[in-house]
Amino acid sequence: MSSAVVICHYHEVALKQKNREIFEKKLRTNIAFMLSDIVKQNMVMRGYGRLKIVLPFGFEDTEKIEIVKSRLNNVFGLTNYGIGIVSALDIEKICEASLKVLKSKNFKTFSVKTKRQNKKFPLNSVEVNQKVGAFILEKFKSDGKEIKVDLKNPDITVHIEIVDREVYVYADRFKGPGGLPVGSSGKVVSLLSAGFDSPVASYMIMKRGARVVFVHYHSYPYTSYDSIEQVKQIVKILSRFQLHSKLYIVPIAEAQRIIVLNAPVELRTILYRRLMIKIAEKIAEKEKAEALVTGESLGQVASQTLRNIRVINQIANLPILRPLIGIDKEEIIQKSREIGTYEISSQPYDDCCSFLTGRHPETWADLNDIFEVEKKINWNELVEISLSNAEVENIYADFLDKNIVEKIED
Ligand code: ATP
Ligand code: MG
Repeated sequence: MSSAVVICHYHEVALKQKNREIFEKKLRTNIAFMLSDIVKQNMVMRGYGRLKIVLPFGFEDTEKIEIVKSRLNNVFGLTNYGIGIVSALDIEKICEASLKVLKSKNFKTFSVKTKRQNKKFPLNSVEVNQKVGAFILEKFKSDGKEIKVDLKNPDITVHIEIVDREVYVYADRFKGPGGLPVGSSGKVVSLLSAGFDSPVASYMIMKRGARVVFVHYHSYPYTSYDSIEQVKQIVKILSRFQLHSKLYIVPIAEAQRIIVLNAPVELRTILYRRLMIKIAEKIAEKEKAEALVTGESLGQVASQTLRNIRVINQIANLPILRPLIGIDKEEIIQKSREIGTYEISSQPYDDCCSFLTGRHPETWADLNDIFEVEKKINWNELVEISLSNAEVENIYADFLDKNIVEKIED
């Protein structure tokens, strides 16, 4: 058995000229972490504008290969990857390797695609394609199997990548999730409810390379504890993409009570939102995060009119990222199905934002009215009251043991 290798390709990462090395290193570490229970950390290697993973089993071991694939599909920054074997820099060996990767495959037409990065290799890529193609045709023919070359629309393609010291040969090529490696863009604090939107927003920003710290607000005991449990499950799912997440669980009932005492019913929702931003900024400061994230989408609900977004924004010092601002609910729900948060988000949950807010919240708030009410409100005190009772929970991807994650993070 020869060890299977996974050859990982990345586009956008490679585009970042100056930062290329930082991005590649991050991607390498993220892949190594993602597979830490399967391969040794040093079996994930950088080189020749690719990453190579040497697996401790053969590519024929489909069951284990499936696990590797399911993990790699969670690694942002990966454009595509091939699973095959390594060959020596020798055309005969390359022919043998090509035959090997095709062995168990069912196909009628095939093509060979060579990329020759190593210009010292005596044959150019067209010549390699021809030699390998002819070899495969001949071998299959002598086995009595009828196959043909089809360069336009083949059932299967043998990929050959010739680099300085070796050659990668594979017939299985898969699409990665794209995006940028988690952690390569810095950190954000995401305001997470149990609804559909904020998990999708968190996913999108994670996919653009940000590590996400989560904060959830609740009004327990005035609302049920269920939303907290739901949010923990959502964070568990989102942790598949960053392995380890921190979730701040912040009680705001006491702060809301003070707001209720001072604010007319129609302004309370907006004031709760301003409170949430204030608290999230305090957490961001502690976590050294650069921005906040919400699942707001323009016009979706009363608090998400342009004016109210402006009024909510006004209290923030950090940028508030809203990846869903121009996205329809249907698309958001579709995305939540893909990510795996749909089931949890579709369960009913208590919303702390509707705590004593009445039926007709303000849809076009006047900042002066807000300032007037806020003369009676000491934000720092409300933030303090809320955070002093906050809990922080560490949540890990379901497929990795907590101890493994903690060890690799050291
Ligand atoms: P979601 O589906 O994310 O709950 P929504 O469409 O229900 O969004 P709102 O309830 O108005 O909209 O919330 C807007 C945003 O405010 C949410 O996307 C989320 O980022 C944040 N948010 C709302 N409730 C909470 C909460 N309990 N804890 C933390 N953040 C919250
Ligand atoms: Mg909501």
